[in-house]
Amino acid sequence: MLEKRSNDFVATGQKIACITLDLEQDYGRVDTYNTFDRINELCEIVKAHDIKLTAFIVGKILDQRHGVVDALSGVGTEFELHSYSHDLVTPNDFSDEVQKSKKAYIDYFGVPPLGYRSPQCRVSPQHFEVLARQGFVFDSSVVPSWRPGVYSNMSAPSLPYYTNGLIEIPFSVIPAIHLPLTMSYIKVFGKMYRFLLTAFGFPRVLIFNFHLHDIFSTASLNQLPFAYQIFHRRNAKNALEMLKRFFILLKHKGYEFLHMKRLVEMI
Ligand SMILES: [Zn+2]
Repeated sequence: MLEKRSNDFVATGQKIACITLDLEQDYGRVDTYNTFDRINELCEIVKAHDIKLTAFIVGKILDQRHGVVDALSGVGTEFELHSYSHDLVTPNDFSDEVQKSKKAYIDYFGVPPLGYRSPQCRVSPQHFEVLARQGFVFDSSVVPSWRPGVYSNMSAPSLPYYTNGLIEIPFSVIPAIHLPLTMSYIKVFGKMYRFLLTAFGFPRVLIFNFHLHDIFSTASLNQLPFAYQIFHRRNAKNALEMLKRFFILLKHKGYEFLHMKRLVEMI
């Protein structure tokens, strides 16, 4: 395994932000798509802030819900894959999910995908090998942090690295405290999040992630287990404003927004 943990591919002083959206059913587990009704609001923000959005899309959406794909395509979104079914209750065979989602991608776009992100960021070296064999160039599933019962990657590199035949582009975390740079954590921590980011510093290559259900609250929320509802209701009314303020903060800090495939070319 060859690892590369340096900033070598980034010019001195350059700061890069990849804004990623995991595009899936509501809350990743409810069999509804109410958040898709608000897609134009997101497209307006992407346009207004000149974001180069990368969407990791669930394959069955490519087969069944073309409206949301067309709307995001209209604002220059890059699409990569996020499994075929995103079934968190009875997870399917990884290889099968990869193959089915790749077929849906090629049927829709006419070209093969470059990147993959696993639901709930669950990946292993065997998964990387499957992706490499299927012709994927990069994966972006590793969170160099710890989430009880989901992942434990505290010692994983925080910068892109080569592993098992492909490039892994990990989620960014706030240095030293390993708090993931995701919209869900911004909502949970509120103003404290900005303080922590300022105190511990911004990574020069910043991979940020959000979901539609992080910014648009819908009736589907009531179908979640109660503990999840409490988590998702925190700062739900302010979420869209918080996301916009985060984009403004990144621009103010000198970040250049790039699609992930452009970052991969640089690496
Ligand atoms: Zn997901």
